[in-house]
Amino acid sequence: MIDIQGVDKWYGSTQVLFGVDLQVARGETVCIIGPSGSGKSTLLRTVNHLEDINAGSISVDGQLVGYREHNGRLHELRESEACTQRLGIGMVFQQFNLFPHMTALENVSFAPVKVKGENAAEARAYGLELLTRVGLAGKANSYPSKLSGGQQQRVAIARAMAMRPQVMLFDEPTSALDPELVGEVLAVMKDLARTGGITVVVVTHEMGFAREVADRVVFMDAGRVVEQGTPDEVLGNPTHERTQAFLSAVL
Ligand code: ADP
Ligand code: MG
Repeated sequence: MIDIQGVDKWYGSTQVLFGVDLQVARGETVCIIGPSGSGKSTLLRTVNHLEDINAGSISVDGQLVGYREHNGRLHELRESEACTQRLGIGMVFQQFNLFPHMTALENVSFAPVKVKGENAAEARAYGLELLTRVGLAGKANSYPSKLSGGQQQRVAIARAMAMRPQVMLFDEPTSALDPELVGEVLAVMKDLARTGGITVVVVTHEMGFAREVADRVVFMDAGRVVEQGTPDEVLGNPTHERTQAFLSAVL
């Protein structure tokens, strides 16, 4: 579903990704762990074409990210929005960034109508279904300012799901939350990851979540994938010294 090959990324004169290879199968749940500054967010953002890459290639569901085929030729695509919508990628960030002037339900049903041209009544019905699924049916008409951080993040997840993505990318979705609100968001993500068909990539520091939910754990350090394997392998019995050092610092 996601095929990352030999990706280099530079910010100005600083290289932050070095020949990253990563493949994610359809329906798989992958957790990316690693120290701050190791390039996890940058890698996730390149998959969504929020960042251009300097070498290598990324394809999602067989389509090159950042390019569009037209008359049998590939054309560079500048606009990430159009690209990710076409590829069916949803992304959830550390900061939930809900529209403050819209209710929870309006936040969730806005884009399907505006961007995909879905029927408004159907989008609302599906939005309510998604809010129910994240445990917020009773908050459909609440504004973000009336919701806790955990509730806002669950709305943000429902909002991303409303676009019916094939791939969901999460970048430290619980890092901005008070500790007592982390569990409710992880529970929603777990439910999602266990839904057949959807491919989930999560950058997280929640090792318990990674151990329980990930099919595969990827450890990144200094712009490289250092080690990957099952949670038992990477978290329980890491082979690389840098993975061992990282885990002993966080566990
Ligand atoms: P992580 O998510 O693992 O903490 P990031 O992908 O955010 O790592 O950052 C990787 C490196 O790239 C860091 O050294 C960071 O300072 C740098 N970096 C991230 N975003 C930018 C940017 N927009 N401009 C310049 N440097 C950046
Ligand atoms: Mg990051």
